[in-house]
Amino acid sequence: MEVFQTVSSLQAVLTNLSGSVGFVPTMGSLHQGHLSLIKKALEENTHLTISIFVNPTQFEDPTDFEKYPRSLEKDLSMIATIAPKALVFTPAVSEIYRNKITAGFYSFNGLDKRMEGNSRQGHFQGVAAVVERLFSIVNPDRAYFGEKDYQQLAIIRHIVVQKKLSLAIVSCPIVRDKSGLALSSRNARLSKHHLEQASLLFRSLKQARALYLDKDASTAQHHVNQLFSQAQEWTLDYFCIYDEITLREIDNKKTENVRGFIAAQVGEIRLIDNLSFSLI
Ligand code: AMP
Repeated sequence: MEVFQTVSSLQAVLTNLSGSVGFVPTMGSLHQGHLSLIKKALEENTHLTISIFVNPTQFEDPTDFEKYPRSLEKDLSMIATIAPKALVFTPAVSEIYRNKITAGFYSFNGLDKRMEGNSRQGHFQGVAAVVERLFSIVNPDRAYFGEKDYQQLAIIRHIVVQKKLSLAIVSCPIVRDKSGLALSSRNARLSKHHLEQASLLFRSLKQARALYLDKDASTAQHHVNQLFSQAQEWTLDYFCIYDEITLREIDNKKTENVRGFIAAQVGEIRLIDNLSFSLI
């Protein structure tokens, strides 16, 4: 495993490689969810680049950026275990943004108008800016993203088409713990008490899915609202049932390309999750 802090040192190695390059961008604090992306990228490519960069422009609240968990040494030893030949890029903020820390001015064709885009102003402009910059540095054949951040995945696919970037975006399923909680670096900030309650998110998605398929969207919506109104320490930010391609409301009940999305806050921590509501 080789670790690079600068664009020039990474590119000096990348330009001499032959064969395909897979790329896994992360913000570190790695867990099994990240490792599933790394494993898939290893299987499908000759070489693997992983970035670890906590991107300031995608945080609306600077305190959230500062409090984002960081554990570089542990991350590097996890990578060394499963991907000993990986090229790991750990740039400083100045290396990515030079002296101008600004997000982008992308048009996302409405994909950013709901859910995380509503709740976290400017978030996707920051995500798009860093992802495009990282793609231009690494120039991968394939880049791997988790369905955990489903709206992010849709937006990145959109940018790749819009900007005619020549790489494939590969999506990877959500990795969960035994309780059903989607793994997330933010889970490390949950108190033991809140961690025990956090399976509520996935439980409500599963129950909503059953109600949606058995009855309709408004029954599912009503049920989730009820569940959260009874959960005193939780605040439901949104629960939506959307077309998973356009990320818009569905006109009629359908059983293909439909997905439930949820975001809720417990204590100081905001968690997101999603689940396919399609029949197959
Ligand atoms: P992050 O470090 O949170 O920016 O995540 C880096 C990548 O890992 C993103 O593509 C995420 O969607 C993905 N990821 C995070 N958590 C999970 C999970 N539980 N299962 C699958 N992928 C995940």
